[in-house]
Amino acid sequence: MADKKRIYLSSPHMSEEGFEIEYIKEAFETNWIAPLGPNVDGFERELAAKIGAKYAAALSSGTAAIHMALKAAGVGEGDIVFCPALTFSATANPIIYQNAIPVFIDSNIKTWNMDLGALETAFEKYGDRVKAVLVVHLYGLSADLDPIIELCKKNNVTLIEDAAESLGTTYKGKYTGTFGDYGVFSFNGNKIITTSGGGMLVSDNEEGIAKVKFWATQARDKARHYQHSELGYNYRMSNVVAGIGRGQLKVLDQRVAKKKYIFEYYKRELGKLDGIQFMPVNEWNEPNYWLSCIILSGQVRPIDIIEALEKENIESRPIWKPMHEQPFYEACDFVGEGISKRIFENGVCLPSDTKMTDEDLERACSVVKGLWE
Ligand SMILES: *Cc1c(COP(=O)(O)O)cnc(C)c1O
Repeated sequence: MADKKRIYLSSPHMSEEGFEIEYIKEAFETNWIAPLGPNVDGFERELAAKIGAKYAAALSSGTAAIHMALKAAGVGEGDIVFCPALTFSATANPIIYQNAIPVFIDSNIKTWNMDLGALETAFEKYGDRVKAVLVVHLYGLSADLDPIIELCKKNNVTLIEDAAESLGTTYKGKYTGTFGDYGVFSFNGNKIITTSGGGMLVSDNEEGIAKVKFWATQARDKARHYQHSELGYNYRMSNVVAGIGRGQLKVLDQRVAKKKYIFEYYKRELGKLDGIQFMPVNEWNEPNYWLSCIILSGQVRPIDIIEALEKENIESRPIWKPMHEQPFYEACDFVGEGISKRIFENGVCLPSDTKMTDEDLERACSVVKGLWE
């Protein structure tokens, strides 16, 4: 096993052209390492232009961006925030940072994202205690946004899109992250593009983004001495890190194309095996295919696939474990019928690293097919 090349789930992939190092070199040569600087401004401007958002704030992580979006939405102590059950814990944790209360919403099997019926039921139950809805585009598949936007408008609540996994995904021809009042992106190491770690908050609300930049730099009032009228955070992105982001942004379309190639390769090779179903790609959705995911309904279980791949030095992993099933969030309310749990219990994320060659893909596929023999 040791001599077999490791295949990763999704790992950093710098541009072959060396775009990132050019921006970093410039930062070094001008000693513009930190804190803010031209790469930060450039990365904000270029990402906003790419996806069609008006304003952006580069932050230290996607989690920080969600936190700041909730704060900008006025979410505070005792407020209810609706959040999908099926997501990474980083979606939900900032609700707690704001002393607010998450209510977990079930998934729809046709989207793997927030279920409209469950969301409606939750609005009926919690009424005007609800301050915000956090919608997630899981694994790069967009939620069915139009009816969710309508429900949020009707109930007069802020919509925040956690697009951490869906940079480059479009819904009805428009990029995810630009539909809600706020959109969040992550550049963590395993995301479709990475800065080693970082995040971005986007919005068409100029005042909201200005306020976030203020809070994220320790909430320093305009005064010569250190004066603070509000609670601050140290959440901004450094000028070196932003340089990596500017370079990575140039290869985003290339990465999306490769992720799609990987998904289609698996679908072709594994799609006919009994009891395998691929994640749902709806007609309104052009995903970024961040991870290629399947659900199983036959004899072969997720753990069989994960263990067989691991034996060959190939990384894969289960679907996110739903939040209402997490010990930390046990006491929180959940609205739905348990679809999220079903996806978790039967799902696998296949290796989706953009550095994978056809030979690597073939290796992964033959391990999976071996379980059907
Ligand atoms: C990665 C991720 C985050 C958090 O982003 P970080 O940059 O790691 O803080 C939030 N939500 C989802 C759905 C994610 O996958």
